[in-house]
Amino acid sequence: MLPLLLLFAFQQTGEQTTNRTFGDKPKNIILMIGDGMGLTQITAGLYSNGNSLYLEKFPITGLITTHSAKNIVTDSGAGATAFACGCKTFNGAVGVCKDKTPCLTILEQAEQQGLATGLVTTSSVTHATPASFIAHVPDRSNMEAIATFFLQTDIDLFIGGGMKYFTQRISDQRNLVEELSAKGVAVSDFSKKKLCDASPAPERPFGWFSAMEEPESAEKGRDYLPLAGKMAPDFLKKRSAKGFFLMIEGAQIDWACHAKNAPSAVREMLDFDAAIGEALKFAEADGQTLVIVTADHETGGFALEQGGARDSLDMEFNTAGHTASLVPVFAYGPGAKQFGGVYDNTDIHVKMRELFGFPANDMESSRSLKN
Ligand code: MG
Ligand code: ZN
Repeated sequence: MLPLLLLFAFQQTGEQTTNRTFGDKPKNIILMIGDGMGLTQITAGLYSNGNSLYLEKFPITGLITTHSAKNIVTDSGAGATAFACGCKTFNGAVGVCKDKTPCLTILEQAEQQGLATGLVTTSSVTHATPASFIAHVPDRSNMEAIATFFLQTDIDLFIGGGMKYFTQRISDQRNLVEELSAKGVAVSDFSKKKLCDASPAPERPFGWFSAMEEPESAEKGRDYLPLAGKMAPDFLKKRSAKGFFLMIEGAQIDWACHAKNAPSAVREMLDFDAAIGEALKFAEADGQTLVIVTADHETGGFALEQGGARDSLDMEFNTAGHTASLVPVFAYGPGAKQFGGVYDNTDIHVKMRELFGFPANDMESSRSLKN
């Protein structure tokens, strides 16, 4: 009798997380990008966390190719532009396709259709990954130009670093925080308020800067990503009855792997996973939200080597750069079934757009493992 009872208890837990039935179309999409998060980064996070990650709760998994227009190894600009616009582009590009034409992003499409939109990152908000959803520049290093696009799109929420590209501008001396405030955006920053003390009013768009430049690492005490993962969906849901598109990035998994700092990579992975947990809790309660977790590329040729144990991993890097290996996709909620299988990073855009029912973006490539 007892073993049967135990089995029943386990099944109950499983049912709550994976067997819930959803409709076919989401009202809201939360796209979560672990920059540089390959399978080994996930595996290292799993074993370092008592063999447990929120990622295990996703019922659907897939794999994507990540090459850019000409290179087998992508950078984060081309990788995020593939998700944002559905086109292959050159490394270094942000929101432009390979002929440098600006492409309408899924965030801009959502804005046009009356949905609420948001960007959350642990880099500067002008950094390549978030920038690819809102800006259109052929050179990702042009941070001041990227910042101006936050005034051109009616984005409802942004959280991340990089305030100096808004307030200490060398190119034109504009103060974009003042301009955003004049537009009605409630902008706050680390010097005035911690994110946990900010309670954004849904009547106004909200922005919060974590640092003048790039935020600290999770190891050094940066702690806002899981909180933002909880706050952002709650806020955006109140901003529009039509739904929302939210991108949340764990940016510094990539940076830790470039630095070949394995403990930091694990810390960043677990910080991102905690934010994933918050997004999942929202989606589970809401029932109309699709959560997609993926990566733009793997970083470091990361390996867990022989000789390590589950509680003391032997972690090595093969390169200080990115690699071309397939990266995983995890999906939960209405439409999640679409994300199983092996396909291309540009198809993430196509699938999100089709699920939202938005018209085709002129620049998106045809479906495209071959492109
Ligand atoms: Mg990034
Ligand atoms: Zn990188």
